[in-house]
Amino acid sequence: MGEFELIARYFTRPPAAGGMVARGVGDDCAVLDLGDRWLALTTDMLVEGRHFFAGAEPEALGHKALAVNLSDLAAAGAAPRCFFLALALPQADEVWLAAFSRGMLALADAHGCTLAGGDTTRSSAGGPLTICITAVGETPPGAALSRAGALVGDDLWVSGEVGDAALALERLRSAVAPAQAGAQCLCSTTLGPGLRRGDGALDAIRQRLDRPEPRVALGLRLRGLASSCIDVSDGLLGDLGHIRERSGVGAELLWSAVPRSPTLRAQPPEVEQRCALAGGDDYEVLFTAAPAQRDAVQTAGAAAGVAVKRIGRITAEPGCRVLDADGRMIDTAGLASFDHFAP
Ligand code: ADP
Ligand code: MG
Repeated sequence: MGEFELIARYFTRPPAAGGMVARGVGDDCAVLDLGDRWLALTTDMLVEGRHFFAGAEPEALGHKALAVNLSDLAAAGAAPRCFFLALALPQADEVWLAAFSRGMLALADAHGCTLAGGDTTRSSAGGPLTICITAVGETPPGAALSRAGALVGDDLWVSGEVGDAALALERLRSAVAPAQAGAQCLCSTTLGPGLRRGDGALDAIRQRLDRPEPRVALGLRLRGLASSCIDVSDGLLGDLGHIRERSGVGAELLWSAVPRSPTLRAQPPEVEQRCALAGGDDYEVLFTAAPAQRDAVQTAGAAAGVAVKRIGRITAEPGCRVLDADGRMIDTAGLASFDHFAP
Protein backbone atom coordinates (compact mmCIF):
# COMPACT_ATOMS: atom_id res chain seq x y z
CA MET A 1 0.00 0.00 0.00
CA GLY A 2 1.44 3.38 -1.02
CA GLU A 3 1.33 6.61 0.98
CA PHE A 4 -1.69 8.03 -0.80
CA GLU A 5 -3.70 4.83 -0.74
CA LEU A 6 -2.99 4.62 2.99
CA ILE A 7 -4.28 8.16 3.54
CA ALA A 8 -7.31 7.53 1.34
CA ARG A 9 -8.21 4.28 3.07
CA TYR A 10 -7.71 5.19 6.71
CA PHE A 11 -7.71 8.95 7.07
CA THR A 12 -10.06 10.45 4.52
CA ARG A 13 -13.56 11.39 5.62
CA PRO A 14 -15.92 14.05 4.34
CA PRO A 15 -16.03 17.19 6.53
CA ALA A 16 -18.82 17.21 9.16
CA ALA A 17 -22.00 18.82 7.88
CA GLY A 18 -22.51 22.40 8.98
CA GLY A 19 -18.93 22.66 10.26
CA MET A 20 -16.30 25.18 9.27
CA VAL A 21 -14.19 22.81 7.14
CA ALA A 22 -14.85 23.85 3.55
CA ARG A 23 -12.05 21.65 2.22
CA GLY A 24 -10.56 18.64 3.99
CA VAL A 25 -8.04 15.92 3.19
CA GLY A 26 -6.64 15.82 -0.34
CA ASP A 27 -5.31 19.25 -1.09
CA ASP A 28 -2.16 21.19 -0.19
CA CYS A 29 -4.14 23.00 2.47
CA ALA A 30 -7.37 22.40 4.30
CA VAL A 31 -9.71 25.38 4.25
CA LEU A 32 -11.78 26.76 7.12
CA ASP A 33 -14.67 28.99 6.09
CA LEU A 34 -14.95 31.88 8.58
CA GLY A 35 -17.56 33.72 6.54
CA ASP A 36 -15.77 36.99 5.84
CA ARG A 37 -12.46 35.19 5.20
CA TRP A 38 -11.00 31.74 4.62
CA LEU A 39 -8.17 30.20 6.59
CA ALA A 40 -5.81 27.76 4.85
CA LEU A 41 -4.06 25.21 7.09
CA THR A 42 -1.29 22.78 6.39
CA THR A 43 1.08 20.58 8.37
CA ASP A 44 4.38 19.06 7.26
CA MET A 45 6.87 16.98 9.17
CA LEU A 46 10.63 16.56 8.68
CA VAL A 47 12.25 13.45 10.16
CA GLU A 48 16.01 13.04 10.58
CA GLY A 49 17.40 10.28 8.39
CA ARG A 50 14.30 10.48 6.21
CA HIS A 51 14.00 14.09 5.06
CA PHE A 52 17.47 15.29 6.05
CA PHE A 53 20.85 13.80 6.92
CA ALA A 54 21.68 13.38 10.60
CA GLY A 55 23.79 16.38 11.57
CA ALA A 56 22.28 18.64 8.89
CA GLU A 57 23.21 22.29 9.20
CA PRO A 58 20.63 23.63 11.71
CA GLU A 59 20.08 27.12 10.29
CA ALA A 60 19.17 25.72 6.86
CA LEU A 61 17.03 23.06 8.51
CA GLY A 62 15.05 25.72 10.39
CA HIS A 63 14.52 27.57 7.11
CA LYS A 64 13.44 24.44 5.25
CA ALA A 65 11.07 23.18 7.96
CA LEU A 66 9.04 26.38 7.64
CA ALA A 67 9.58 26.79 3.89
CA VAL A 68 7.91 23.48 3.01
CA ASN A 69 4.82 24.58 4.93
CA LEU A 70 4.77 28.08 3.40
CA SER A 71 5.03 26.34 0.03
CA ASP A 72 1.70 24.61 0.69
CA LEU A 73 0.18 27.98 1.61
CA ALA A 74 1.60 29.36 -1.66
CA ALA A 75 -0.12 26.55 -3.57
CA ALA A 76 -3.40 27.60 -1.98
CA GLY A 77 -2.78 31.28 -2.79
CA ALA A 78 -2.92 32.03 0.93
CA ALA A 79 -1.11 34.83 2.77
CA PRO A 80 0.92 33.36 5.66
CA ARG A 81 -0.34 34.50 9.07
CA CYS A 82 1.04 32.23 11.81
CA PHE A 83 2.55 28.82 12.51
CA PHE A 84 2.99 26.22 15.25
CA LEU A 85 6.20 24.29 15.91
CA ALA A 86 6.30 20.78 17.39
CA LEU A 87 9.77 19.42 18.13
CA ALA A 88 11.02 16.02 19.32
CA LEU A 89 14.67 16.63 20.23
CA PRO A 90 17.31 14.05 21.19
CA GLN A 91 18.93 16.69 23.43
CA ALA A 92 18.77 20.41 24.25
CA ASP A 93 21.83 21.58 22.33
CA GLU A 94 21.89 25.36 22.62
CA VAL A 95 24.21 25.93 19.68
CA TRP A 96 21.88 23.85 17.52
CA LEU A 97 18.74 25.54 18.90
CA ALA A 98 20.10 29.05 18.30
CA ALA A 99 20.96 28.31 14.68
CA PHE A 100 17.76 26.37 13.97
CA SER A 101 15.52 29.09 15.39
CA ARG A 102 17.51 31.80 13.59
CA GLY A 103 16.95 30.11 10.21
CA MET A 104 13.28 29.45 10.85
CA LEU A 105 12.44 32.88 12.28
CA ALA A 106 14.28 34.78 9.54
CA LEU A 107 11.97 33.18 6.97
CA ALA A 108 8.96 33.72 9.25
CA ASP A 109 9.80 37.43 9.56
CA ALA A 110 10.27 37.75 5.80
CA HIS A 111 6.67 36.56 5.38
CA GLY A 112 5.12 38.28 8.39
CA CYS A 113 4.27 34.87 9.82
CA THR A 114 4.09 34.65 13.63
CA LEU A 115 5.24 31.64 15.65
CA ALA A 116 2.08 31.25 17.72
CA GLY A 117 2.65 28.02 19.65
CA GLY A 118 3.87 24.47 19.49
CA ASP A 119 5.09 21.57 21.60
CA THR A 120 8.54 20.44 22.72
CA THR A 121 9.53 16.95 23.84
CA ARG A 122 12.62 14.79 24.11
CA SER A 123 12.72 12.02 21.53
CA SER A 124 13.16 8.49 22.85
CA ALA A 125 16.71 7.17 23.20
CA GLY A 126 18.42 7.37 19.83
CA GLY A 127 15.12 8.46 18.32
CA PRO A 128 15.26 10.78 15.34
CA LEU A 129 15.05 14.53 15.54
CA THR A 130 11.54 15.34 14.30
CA ILE A 131 10.21 18.74 13.31
CA CYS A 132 6.52 19.25 12.61
CA ILE A 133 5.17 22.63 11.60
CA THR A 134 1.55 23.62 11.09
CA ALA A 135 1.06 26.83 9.15
CA VAL A 136 -2.01 29.03 8.85
CA GLY A 137 -2.73 31.40 5.97
CA GLU A 138 -5.61 33.56 4.84
CA THR A 139 -7.51 34.24 1.63
CA PRO A 140 -10.65 36.19 0.81
CA PRO A 141 -13.73 33.92 0.93
CA GLY A 142 -13.77 31.47 -1.97
CA ALA A 143 -10.36 32.56 -3.26
CA ALA A 144 -8.14 29.67 -2.12
CA LEU A 145 -6.55 27.77 -4.99
CA SER A 146 -6.85 24.00 -5.07
CA ARG A 147 -5.68 20.93 -6.97
CA ALA A 148 -9.18 20.54 -8.38
CA GLY A 149 -10.41 22.93 -11.06
CA ALA A 150 -8.14 22.30 -14.07
CA LEU A 151 -10.22 22.42 -17.24
CA VAL A 152 -9.66 20.72 -20.59
CA GLY A 153 -7.77 23.17 -22.82
CA ASP A 154 -6.06 24.98 -19.92
CA ASP A 155 -2.35 25.67 -20.15
CA LEU A 156 -0.03 23.95 -17.71
CA TRP A 157 2.58 26.19 -16.05
CA VAL A 158 5.44 25.78 -13.62
CA SER A 159 7.50 28.36 -11.75
CA GLY A 160 11.30 28.53 -11.56
CA GLU A 161 13.28 25.42 -12.45
CA VAL A 162 12.80 21.82 -11.41
CA GLY A 163 15.17 18.96 -10.69
CA ASP A 164 18.17 20.64 -9.05
CA ALA A 165 17.20 19.62 -5.51
CA ALA A 166 16.91 15.98 -6.56
CA LEU A 167 20.25 16.18 -8.36
CA ALA A 168 21.88 17.61 -5.23
CA LEU A 169 20.40 14.83 -3.12
CA GLU A 170 21.57 12.13 -5.53
CA ARG A 171 25.08 13.55 -5.56
CA LEU A 172 25.21 14.01 -1.80
CA ARG A 173 23.98 10.47 -1.22
CA SER A 174 26.58 9.00 -3.49
CA ALA A 175 29.39 11.20 -2.19
CA VAL A 176 28.77 11.18 1.55
CA ALA A 177 30.84 8.54 3.31
CA PRO A 178 28.72 6.91 6.00
CA ALA A 179 31.11 7.98 8.77
CA GLN A 180 30.95 11.58 7.62
CA ALA A 181 27.27 11.73 6.78
CA GLY A 182 26.73 13.94 9.79
CA ALA A 183 28.87 16.66 8.33
CA GLN A 184 27.44 16.13 4.84
CA CYS A 185 31.05 16.02 3.77
CA LEU A 186 31.53 15.82 0.04
CA CYS A 187 34.41 13.41 0.02
CA SER A 188 34.61 12.84 -3.69
CA THR A 189 35.42 15.14 -6.54
CA THR A 190 33.57 12.98 -9.02
CA LEU A 191 30.07 14.29 -8.53
CA GLY A 192 28.97 14.14 -12.12
CA PRO A 193 29.37 16.44 -15.12
CA GLY A 194 29.95 20.04 -14.14
CA LEU A 195 29.88 19.25 -10.45
CA ARG A 196 33.11 19.42 -8.54
CA ARG A 197 33.72 19.84 -4.87
CA GLY A 198 34.02 23.50 -3.95
CA ASP A 199 32.57 24.86 -7.17
CA GLY A 200 29.66 27.24 -7.64
CA ALA A 201 27.36 24.91 -9.56
CA LEU A 202 27.38 22.40 -6.73
CA ASP A 203 26.70 25.12 -4.16
CA ALA A 204 23.78 26.38 -6.25
CA ILE A 205 22.02 23.02 -6.48
CA ARG A 206 22.65 22.41 -2.76
CA GLN A 207 20.94 25.73 -2.05
CA ARG A 208 17.92 24.45 -3.95
CA LEU A 209 17.83 21.37 -1.72
CA ASP A 210 18.68 23.00 1.61
CA ARG A 211 17.05 26.42 1.36
CA PRO A 212 13.96 26.28 -0.88
CA GLU A 213 12.21 29.61 -1.42
CA PRO A 214 8.44 29.14 -1.09
CA ARG A 215 6.62 30.86 -3.97
CA VAL A 216 4.27 32.77 -1.69
CA ALA A 217 4.21 36.03 -3.68
CA LEU A 218 3.39 34.14 -6.89
CA GLY A 219 0.65 32.10 -5.19
CA LEU A 220 -1.04 35.31 -4.04
CA ARG A 221 -0.98 36.72 -7.57
CA LEU A 222 -2.41 33.52 -9.04
CA ARG A 223 -5.66 33.93 -7.10
CA GLY A 224 -8.46 34.39 -9.60
CA LEU A 225 -6.06 33.47 -12.41
CA ALA A 226 -5.04 29.83 -11.93
CA SER A 227 -7.74 27.19 -12.28
CA SER A 228 -5.73 24.72 -10.17
CA CYS A 229 -2.45 24.74 -8.32
CA ILE A 230 -0.12 22.44 -6.35
CA ASP A 231 3.42 22.79 -5.04
CA VAL A 232 6.02 20.43 -6.48
CA SER A 233 7.27 18.53 -3.45
CA ASP A 234 7.22 14.90 -4.59
CA GLY A 235 8.14 15.26 -8.28
CA LEU A 236 6.64 17.04 -11.29
CA LEU A 237 4.81 14.04 -12.79
CA GLY A 238 3.49 12.80 -9.47
CA ASP A 239 2.26 16.22 -8.42
CA LEU A 240 0.72 16.74 -11.86
CA GLY A 241 -0.98 13.40 -11.19
CA HIS A 242 -2.66 14.94 -8.12
CA ILE A 243 -4.00 17.82 -10.23
CA ARG A 244 -5.22 15.37 -12.89
CA GLU A 245 -6.90 13.15 -10.35
CA ARG A 246 -8.57 15.91 -8.34
CA SER A 247 -9.65 17.75 -11.50
CA GLY A 248 -10.72 14.63 -13.44
CA VAL A 249 -8.59 15.49 -16.48
CA GLY A 250 -5.52 14.32 -18.40
CA ALA A 251 -2.40 16.25 -19.35
CA GLU A 252 0.21 16.59 -22.06
CA LEU A 253 3.65 17.71 -20.96
CA LEU A 254 6.34 19.03 -23.33
CA TRP A 255 9.69 17.77 -22.09
CA SER A 256 11.65 20.41 -24.00
CA ALA A 257 9.69 23.17 -22.25
CA VAL A 258 10.30 21.92 -18.70
CA PRO A 259 12.58 24.57 -17.14
CA ARG A 260 15.85 23.17 -15.80
CA SER A 261 19.21 24.62 -14.90
CA PRO A 262 22.32 24.43 -17.10
CA THR A 263 23.81 22.17 -14.40
CA LEU A 264 20.96 19.69 -14.74
CA ARG A 265 21.07 19.88 -18.56
CA ALA A 266 24.74 18.88 -18.40
CA GLN A 267 23.91 15.56 -16.72
CA PRO A 268 23.39 12.26 -18.57
CA PRO A 269 19.92 12.32 -20.19
CA GLU A 270 18.44 9.70 -17.87
CA VAL A 271 19.63 11.61 -14.78
CA GLU A 272 18.31 14.88 -16.19
CA GLN A 273 14.92 13.35 -16.93
CA ARG A 274 14.64 11.51 -13.63
CA CYS A 275 15.52 14.60 -11.58
CA ALA A 276 13.31 17.03 -13.53
CA LEU A 277 10.25 14.79 -13.89
CA ALA A 278 10.33 12.66 -10.76
CA GLY A 279 12.69 14.41 -8.33
CA GLY A 280 11.21 15.89 -5.20
CA ASP A 281 11.93 18.91 -3.01
CA ASP A 282 11.66 21.61 -5.70
CA TYR A 283 8.93 23.62 -3.97
CA GLU A 284 8.00 25.33 -7.21
CA VAL A 285 4.32 25.78 -8.04
CA LEU A 286 2.64 23.82 -10.82
CA PHE A 287 -0.62 25.35 -11.99
CA THR A 288 -3.15 25.57 -14.78
CA ALA A 289 -4.81 28.62 -16.33
CA ALA A 290 -6.99 29.35 -19.34
CA PRO A 291 -5.07 30.31 -22.52
CA ALA A 292 -6.76 33.73 -22.36
CA GLN A 293 -4.76 34.39 -19.19
CA ARG A 294 -1.29 33.93 -20.70
CA ASP A 295 -0.28 37.57 -20.47
CA ALA A 296 -1.76 37.89 -17.00
CA VAL A 297 0.20 34.85 -15.79
CA GLN A 298 3.44 36.28 -17.19
CA THR A 299 2.67 39.59 -15.49
CA ALA A 300 2.00 37.77 -12.20
CA GLY A 301 5.34 35.97 -12.45
CA ALA A 302 7.20 39.18 -13.24
CA ALA A 303 5.54 40.99 -10.34
CA ALA A 304 6.40 38.13 -7.99
CA GLY A 305 9.98 38.05 -9.24
CA VAL A 306 9.87 34.43 -10.40
CA ALA A 307 9.97 32.99 -13.90
CA VAL A 308 6.87 31.12 -15.05
CA LYS A 309 6.96 28.69 -17.94
CA ARG A 310 4.21 27.10 -20.01
CA ILE A 311 5.00 23.39 -20.14
CA GLY A 312 1.92 21.70 -21.53
CA ARG A 313 -1.84 21.55 -21.55
CA ILE A 314 -4.79 19.86 -19.95
CA THR A 315 -6.54 17.21 -22.03
CA ALA A 316 -9.78 15.26 -21.91
CA GLU A 317 -8.00 11.91 -22.35
CA PRO A 318 -7.02 10.66 -18.91
CA GLY A 319 -3.39 10.00 -18.02
CA CYS A 320 -0.30 12.03 -18.73
CA ARG A 321 1.62 11.99 -22.01
CA VAL A 322 5.15 13.41 -22.02
CA LEU A 323 6.23 14.46 -25.52
CA ASP A 324 9.70 15.17 -26.90
CA ALA A 325 10.51 18.05 -29.25
CA ASP A 326 9.32 15.98 -32.25
CA GLY A 327 5.99 15.18 -30.64
CA ARG A 328 6.99 11.58 -29.85
CA MET A 329 5.91 10.08 -26.56
CA ILE A 330 8.60 9.63 -23.93
CA ASP A 331 8.33 6.50 -21.82
CA THR A 332 8.01 7.65 -18.21
CA ALA A 333 6.82 4.36 -16.74
CA GLY A 334 10.00 4.02 -14.67
CA LEU A 335 9.78 7.53 -13.22
CA ALA A 336 8.02 7.11 -9.91
CA SER A 337 7.40 10.09 -7.67
CA PHE A 338 8.37 10.10 -4.07
CA ASP A 339 6.14 7.91 -1.91
CA HIS A 340 7.06 7.16 1.73
CA PHE A 341 5.41 3.74 1.53
CA ALA A 342 6.09 2.75 -2.06
CA PRO A 343 6.17 -1.07 -2.27
P1 ADP B 1 1.66 17.88 0.69
O1 ADP B 1 2.72 17.17 -0.11
O2 ADP B 1 1.05 19.03 -0.01
O3 ADP B 1 2.11 18.24 2.08
P2 ADP B 1 0.65 15.30 1.12
O4 ADP B 1 0.94 14.66 -0.19
O5 ADP B 1 1.62 15.10 2.25
O6 ADP B 1 0.47 16.86 0.88
O7 ADP B 1 -0.76 14.85 1.62
C1 ADP B 1 -1.85 14.71 0.74
C2 ADP B 1 -3.13 15.02 1.49
O8 ADP B 1 -3.36 14.06 2.52
C3 ADP B 1 -3.13 16.38 2.17
O9 ADP B 1 -4.42 16.94 2.04
C4 ADP B 1 -2.84 16.04 3.61
O10 ADP B 1 -3.39 16.99 4.50
C5 ADP B 1 -3.53 14.70 3.77
N1 ADP B 1 -2.94 13.84 4.81
C6 ADP B 1 -1.68 13.35 4.86
N2 ADP B 1 -1.51 12.54 5.92
C7 ADP B 1 -2.70 12.53 6.60
C8 ADP B 1 -3.16 11.92 7.78
N3 ADP B 1 -2.37 11.12 8.49
N4 ADP B 1 -4.44 12.13 8.15
C9 ADP B 1 -5.24 12.94 7.42
N5 ADP B 1 -4.87 13.54 6.29
C10 ADP B 1 -3.61 13.36 5.87
MG1 MG C 1 1.92 20.43 -1.20
